[in-house]
Amino acid sequence: MRPMSPLVTESLERHFTLHRGDLAEDKERFLDEVGPKIRGMAVSHVHVNDALLDRLPKLEIAANFGVGYDTIDAAACGRRGVMVTNTPDVLTDEVADLAVGLLLATVRQIPQVDRYLRQGKWLEKPYPLTGTLRGRKVGILGLGRIGRAIAHRLVAFGLPIAYHGRTKQSDVPYEYFPSLIEMAKACDVLMVVAPGGPETKNIVGREVLQALGSEGVLVNVARGTLVDEDALAAALADGTIQSAGLDVFAEEPKVPDALIRQEHAVLLPHVGSASHHTRNAMGQLVVDNLTSWFQGNGPVTPVAETPWKA
Ligand code: NDP
Repeated sequence: MRPMSPLVTESLERHFTLHRGDLAEDKERFLDEVGPKIRGMAVSHVHVNDALLDRLPKLEIAANFGVGYDTIDAAACGRRGVMVTNTPDVLTDEVADLAVGLLLATVRQIPQVDRYLRQGKWLEKPYPLTGTLRGRKVGILGLGRIGRAIAHRLVAFGLPIAYHGRTKQSDVPYEYFPSLIEMAKACDVLMVVAPGGPETKNIVGREVLQALGSEGVLVNVARGTLVDEDALAAALADGTIQSAGLDVFAEEPKVPDALIRQEHAVLLPHVGSASHHTRNAMGQLVVDNLTSWFQGNGPVTPVAETPWKA
């Protein structure tokens, strides 16, 4: 229903009869015509909910391009016997790299310093001194695949790590906080890497930002919906926190003016996994899930809501 890379469409065309909703001028008519015979879908940023599923009565599998599948009602798919797959692991290092880059860019103001030089201001006087990573403690909201990869990197930077999630993990040396607010009080960097969806909507709100404090830096590479953007814009404007580095927004590609006005924040257009290498690996995993499924070998990477029992 939305454009995908040529790697995906060309591979799918080799294996299957491919119907391209992304090329259809009238998507409703397209769904009316081909919906009843569709057995598999490759999806990216598409709301797969009961309304769409009703129009795809033969659907067996929805293969999502991305590890986050908050646009898919996986529980509804599960109830209908529709398998859902995502693309874990192959993007973990790329997103962790970007998250650490975003943290450095935010604390050391790298984009602002670059703009300063290009504007010829260095000829007048040196750039003002910036904040630092030294002496900071990092709290990770969501110590999953990407969260662990971020922690691994930041340990090498010499920073202490804490984490919050629903469960304490026995195989990591980092401090666990059952309460997000308590972790925010104890840290001055908050890295957000938990899944989007109703359960995590706005969990980083005014109180968490206040707890992070005036030296606090928020980095969000998860989903925009986890952060209350109005509260964040206010916290940036009045100095409740020091700064923010954001790769994701609640209503992409729209970014609130109130955030764009914050010159000291670093804002990226959802590029966490956006390298040729990693996007190709993700595309290949979408194709592999579909081909494996239709060869009768089950999915390669099913999501938790639709486990595979061979
Ligand atoms: P994982 O499933 O491996 O990790 C998710 C972590 O979040 C787990 O540690 C889980 O711990 C925690 N978590 C889940 N629900 C909650 C909750 N309600 N409250 C607190 N913590 C919670 O996922 P990945 O690390 O592979 O990916 C994380 C997210 O990153 C994706 O869902 C996606 O949205 C985002 N992402 C963004 C990208 C970008 O381009 N910016 C690219 C790729 C991913 P526990 O179960 O103990 O709560």
